[in-house]
Amino acid sequence: MLILMDQGATPEHVGAVMALLEAAGIRAYVQESPAATSILAPHASQVLKADRIEPMDGVNRVVPITSPFKLASADAAPGRTVVDVRGVKIGGRDLALIAGPCGVESREQLFTVARYVAESGTRLLRAGAYKPRTSPYAFQGKGLEALDLLEEVRREFDLGIVTEATEVETFDEVERVADLVQIGARNMQNFALLKRAGRSTKPVLLKRGLSATLEEWLFAAEYVLSEGNRNVILCERGIRTWSAHARNTLDVSVIPAAKALTHLPVIADPSHATGRRDLVIPCARAAVAAGADGIMVETHCQPGQALSDGPQALLPSDFFQLVGQVTGIRDLLLKDHPGATFCF
Ligand code: PEP
Ligand code: MN
Repeated sequence: MLILMDQGATPEHVGAVMALLEAAGIRAYVQESPAATSILAPHASQVLKADRIEPMDGVNRVVPITSPFKLASADAAPGRTVVDVRGVKIGGRDLALIAGPCGVESREQLFTVARYVAESGTRLLRAGAYKPRTSPYAFQGKGLEALDLLEEVRREFDLGIVTEATEVETFDEVERVADLVQIGARNMQNFALLKRAGRSTKPVLLKRGLSATLEEWLFAAEYVLSEGNRNVILCERGIRTWSAHARNTLDVSVIPAAKALTHLPVIADPSHATGRRDLVIPCARAAVAAGADGIMVETHCQPGQALSDGPQALLPSDFFQLVGQVTGIRDLLLKDHPGATFCF
């Protein structure tokens, strides 16, 4: 259940409800939001009836959570979650942009891309140090050397770093450097990794699995949330279909469908969704029009030389075009819905 407190509820009122829940052996979390404080007790309904809590001082009302996603469900929070990644708010009014190469290849490559990403006004840089590749013979990422470069580039350009953790064994190293830890599509159901991410102090970007349903994706988020990490962002990155013209199929409809079911922010990655540079900008536009809270794209200073995902990397000029177009679409939507948070 979600216990919504009155606007004037005092810390003592909140404390009394928490004490009652604790005495009944129920795990509960206090959630602060600009509107009011709430207490989330995902499994309380099995033990306590709402009419035991509703008459308590400072309690406004009790909302049952009937969804199987006890923490990710839209009922589990008083409003949409906004995740703060080094000052960039994801899930609020502004469209969040994340951009960079698929992988860290060299100091020169990383710094060149970071320079124009920063110039575009984008504040979050993506680049993999550990790459989950289909072939064991393909470029696997530069590991620790890449993480050191990411630390350096963050200092140089004041960018937040988004980078992937591919296994529990190297999670600590990635967590140390990342401002947002990515869990890739191939690991969406790596439950040990999800649990480790759930114990992290860093926000988590959870990509949708290669052929995962919306329900499977939300249960994966639930693994992270239920370990205590409440800063989860979902990322649609295309799913496997029979279409041969593109690497994957961007599931545009899952963006509003996910936002109807969960309070978590939902962003889109049109680079892995299409695998083709010429399709990335149109699909990014579609995702933003569908209500995505942000866009993550791959861009490279010399896509022809890239060690991974060159064909989908935007050239610097394409990237600037993308930034202009997607922010323009977002502004248009905001004009039609002043004050809106983007849940369509
Ligand atoms: C990536 O972002 O570089 C990546 C490997 O993505 P995905 O897990 O979506 O394939
Ligand atoms: Mn890639």
